[in-house]
Amino acid sequence: MKRNIITAALLATTFFGAATATANEPVWDANKVQLISEKLDDGVYAYYPSDAKELESKGLPVATSGGFIVGDKGVLIIDTMLNKRLNMQVQGMVKAEANKPIIYAVNTSSHGDHSYGNMYLPKETKIIQHQETQNYIDTHFEHDTKFMMQNFGKNRGIEEVLPTDADILVGDGGKITLDLGGKMVEIMDFGFAQTGGDLFIWEPESKTMWTGNPIVAVKPSLPWLLGGHLLETLESLQEVRAFLPDDATVIPGHGSPMTPDDIQWHIDYLEAVKTQVQAAIDDGLTLQETVAKVQLPEFTGYALRNWVHPGLNVPAAYKDLSAK
Ligand SMILES: [Zn+2]
Repeated sequence: MKRNIITAALLATTFFGAATATANEPVWDANKVQLISEKLDDGVYAYYPSDAKELESKGLPVATSGGFIVGDKGVLIIDTMLNKRLNMQVQGMVKAEANKPIIYAVNTSSHGDHSYGNMYLPKETKIIQHQETQNYIDTHFEHDTKFMMQNFGKNRGIEEVLPTDADILVGDGGKITLDLGGKMVEIMDFGFAQTGGDLFIWEPESKTMWTGNPIVAVKPSLPWLLGGHLLETLESLQEVRAFLPDDATVIPGHGSPMTPDDIQWHIDYLEAVKTQVQAAIDDGLTLQETVAKVQLPEFTGYALRNWVHPGLNVPAAYKDLSAK
């Protein structure tokens, strides 16, 4: 699994760096984002940026979203945000809605906007991560914070972030069930979905799932194959969709609550990339020719598409399918 992580870091530095260098400004500003919470059911809350619905409907990037689940014993939070400011907003929402101790925090991936806030949580909060996430943080933390400062800007609080160890680890294909006191929560690995350390959180009573980054937001946002592995990602997302009842609620990594049907857009896109890139390989096209040919105009509208699709996803698919 280590190869995935190294590829992810290289790809991310190359493409994300290149994409934002021209803009000279972060895609969203962690000093400005305001998070709001939405009650989905008894003790079940999503949180997301106050402008999420407006931005996502225009295909614009949205800051990180997450949620929290409240049981008799305490609260589990899903993702801990990029900096102290945003993490404190999350803790403030938990206090306002539940006023119970945060006993668990899950990181859906190693990405800083989902995990840097760990260090601001109370000492008694148990951090839950995938084994791969822990491995990545153990070996790449300094590189990762530099990369995040490059992309999210200096003076956004990333300078002071320190790595935190997980208290509970989920292994490959693993699943753990936690009892928050009258509230069960499942934390699952559906396979490689973006980083290889991707965790999905499921609250069965309200039928709510948090996906982290593998599902960015509603259409027209597109998946980012930061770690390559088109085929494994496609398979994992199909498994996630098959797992979900039609009336479930899905909280994506960067947007407001959506439906299981909204996941289909992402699956259809990856299927189309797979089919067309495979056809290009069969015709003997080079990577450059394939990028020029596989345009997929039916999947437009996402503001970051001009680098996500030709700069990241098509090359990742080309590499993955060429290796078969
Ligand atoms: Zn993210």
